[in-house]
Amino acid sequence: MGERVSLGAAGQRLGVSGGDIRRAGYAKVTAGRLEAWEHEPPAWLRKARARKRRPGPRRVEVSCCVCGTVREVRPSLVQDCTHLVCGPCSSGKRPKVPSRPGMILVRTFDVAGYFDGYVHRIATAGERASVHRAAALARAAFLNAAGEPES
Ligand SMILES: [Zn+2]
Repeated sequence: MGERVSLGAAGQRLGVSGGDIRRAGYAKVTAGRLEAWEHEPPAWLRKARARKRRPGPRRVEVSCCVCGTVREVRPSLVQDCTHLVCGPCSSGKRPKVPSRPGMILVRTFDVAGYFDGYVHRIATAGERASVHRAAALARAAFLNAAGEPES
């Protein structure tokens, strides 16, 4: 019996995540059970706590968004990127990312050794102006070229 405690709140009190509790097979937690766990941590709880404390650089799996090649990298290297493209794929190709008005793709070379990183984000005002300038220049060049045969 006893008061129900949400998995998230229970996890917070135990120093683990709510997912850890769910994975241990509990869909709900009562205050009484929580107290018992705090008193005498079961094996899954000790393991989950140890996992959280494990030192050393964490590695995350990232994949090339063109060909899907997977590599393990340090998360800090790629945390700013929304898309990664591997070396072989990035020669000449741009990642296929959803394009929306005002969005630009910023490329960073060699973010994690094997990958080029891309950040897909809303352009700042300054960037937007330079894109417009570039577009205007391209249009002018095109019009000049088109007009040439007649002149
Ligand atoms: Zn690739």
